[in-house]
Amino acid sequence: MVEMFDGKFLIDGEWSKSDSGSTIRVLNPATGQTIGEVPNGSVEDTKRAIDAASQALSKWREFTPHERARILFEGARLIKNRSNELGRLLTMEQGKPLSEATGEVIEAADGIEFYAEAATKMHGSVISSEIEHRNLWVQKEPMGIVGIIIPWNYPAAMFSGKAGPALATGNTVVLKPASNTPLTNLEMARAMVEAGIPKGVLNVVTGPGPVVGNEIAKNSKISKVTFTGETETGKQVMRLASDTLKRISLELGGNDPMIVCEDADLELAATGAANGRYGNCGQDCVAPKRLYVHKSVAEKFIKLFLDRVNLIRVGNGLDPETTMGPLNNSAQRADVERLVRDAKDRGAEVLSGGKRPEGESYANGFFYEPTVLVSVPDGSLILREECFGPALPIVQISDMQEGIEKANDSIYGLGASIWTKDVTKAMDAIGQLQAGTVWVNACSDTPINVPFGGIKQSGFGRDHGTEALEAYCEMKSVTINSKRSGQ
Ligand code: NAD
Repeated sequence: MVEMFDGKFLIDGEWSKSDSGSTIRVLNPATGQTIGEVPNGSVEDTKRAIDAASQALSKWREFTPHERARILFEGARLIKNRSNELGRLLTMEQGKPLSEATGEVIEAADGIEFYAEAATKMHGSVISSEIEHRNLWVQKEPMGIVGIIIPWNYPAAMFSGKAGPALATGNTVVLKPASNTPLTNLEMARAMVEAGIPKGVLNVVTGPGPVVGNEIAKNSKISKVTFTGETETGKQVMRLASDTLKRISLELGGNDPMIVCEDADLELAATGAANGRYGNCGQDCVAPKRLYVHKSVAEKFIKLFLDRVNLIRVGNGLDPETTMGPLNNSAQRADVERLVRDAKDRGAEVLSGGKRPEGESYANGFFYEPTVLVSVPDGSLILREECFGPALPIVQISDMQEGIEKANDSIYGLGASIWTKDVTKAMDAIGQLQAGTVWVNACSDTPINVPFGGIKQSGFGRDHGTEALEAYCEMKSVTINSKRSGQ
């Protein structure tokens, strides 16, 4: 018997269905079976949520940061207490292995705690005046209603990294989960309600991006939209938000280069590449997606890398033996297949994978083998577009400078990594690489206390870090004239 989850919206503190009565089915990507339904939100449903957030705003703003923090800490505690249950739910709707899913839920709760605490430490500034009796300061205030639009690859982490700072700084929220992974987000919201978040402060509306997401992006009552997802969708959100000059932050796609120099610790680099590229079945915005290795060490590196790839166990994420689950949906798998096919057609050689795994247990899920491509010609689509799945093209380079030039030859600028034991070389690369994050002898880590985001068409604005708190506040400059008449 398949477990069925009956999801409902959270609007104005109430769990409700869509006015239209229609629903969206949520699939388990490992089995293709329906595991639940959530309301198929309409524009009217979204407006109801925005109105609730608007009603709740003045009261929530007046809570002290400490009062808000107490509620957020309690919500985080409940999420942690339920991490096994929520991790299982996340595996069932997203596909990732249970250990990764439970880890994500716990980290998400840690993130909410981080922002609850950090918001109590924020301060404004007092500015000296050149005019007598003028008292000048800058205070930070909530922006208003924040619209949050979330993708399906890390739904729990995104909830925490966006709703955490938005709520902690006194904004109210209308959050739209991805339609493939709404259940974990709804359960996280349930924990916040149980923790005592006042009604209307946090609203969650499920439904299609072009309906619910569009309304969030364009509704004039919303002050800020924070979006994570594909670059093309981000551009659409930006266009819609521009009519009302909303504040926006866009965390978009990436095509992260990884450069392995001739003096790199090759064991470390091979482990980093395998964990980074195949974790979350490659559906990670900061996975290494193009690997440039110095030709003098290419053979040795590839051998070490293949040793690690061969250890990957593809399967249903609920099976404890599984180290890589399915892709989240069939369209995503088709896209990876398209990019691998294009590289092969241009002459690339497949050293591992390059196809769906065979066998009954894989028949109905969206599985794809961990794939390694070498001799990938310049111009191959997999070197230019974002491959959001478990395939890594490896290209040989003659020196680091060639690697950097190839790395920077991209519309994206999310992350980049350089692997070398030479600190001078590393410093040179850090300066030259066009990316929001550069790692040296590491890749793909995005800790909650370090600002994270892209440059170029990977977007703008930063999640994570105390910097993200500022991104949910407006600055208000205040002048008080304390002069008395006759003075
Ligand atoms: P997506 O753009 O398809 O969807 C993201 C969200 O936007 C979903 O909730 C979707 O319903 C909604 N949406 C779709 N159309 C919309 C519209 N017209 N208006 C408003 N909202 C709309 O992205 P996805 O496939 O869910 O996620 C994968 C992408 O996310 C990848 O490109 C990946 O690199 C990117 N990503 C980036 C980061 C980062 O921090 N830079 C992190 C994770 C994922």
